[in-house]
Amino acid sequence: MSGLRTGSPNPSHVADPDPRFPFPHSPVPTRCQSEPATFDFAIGDRSGESRAATEERLERARRACSGCPIVKGCLRWALVNKDLTNVGIYAATTPGQRTALRRRMADRLGPDWIDVLADQDQARRERAAAARLNPLTVNQARIIRLDREVNGPMPTPLTPAQQQRNRDRLMAGLKAA
Ligand code: SF4
Repeated sequence: MSGLRTGSPNPSHVADPDPRFPFPHSPVPTRCQSEPATFDFAIGDRSGESRAATEERLERARRACSGCPIVKGCLRWALVNKDLTNVGIYAATTPGQRTALRRRMADRLGPDWIDVLADQDQARRERAAAARLNPLTVNQARIIRLDREVNGPMPTPLTPAQQQRNRDRLMAGLKAA
């Protein structure tokens, strides 16, 4: 599944999905594949459906997304592919909620937040590939685990001062361990 829906704008007029964020593979058919009409939603267009019926349908879609094995990746895909997801429920979010989430991402990571996410993904893939080629020794794995516990997730990019502070904390943690 590409993530595109029948309710998406005319596919001949929309941008291609960002190739840096492939739509996640689901081990089972997703509910939006088997019942796409449940996930249709465009602000101001209820196609004659009553407000109560729309709300009930959207609640069904949200519940389905909550149990979906790829909900996290689906949300990421929907957020970075704005032009492809301006209608419909994706990962239990409405178009308006996704707009708010994109604003928050821009506040947190800057206006180029999509590039930041893509770089993080790329770095993660490279680390995973390197780990497959050169498995960590027990001691290296212990240091990395300790670094995460002491310093938390790594923001990007780190300043030299942040790197030094992290090294100091790590050394203190190693001495105490
Ligand atoms: S999270 Fe929801 S919208 Fe996304 S693939 Fe799963 S069922 Fe579909």
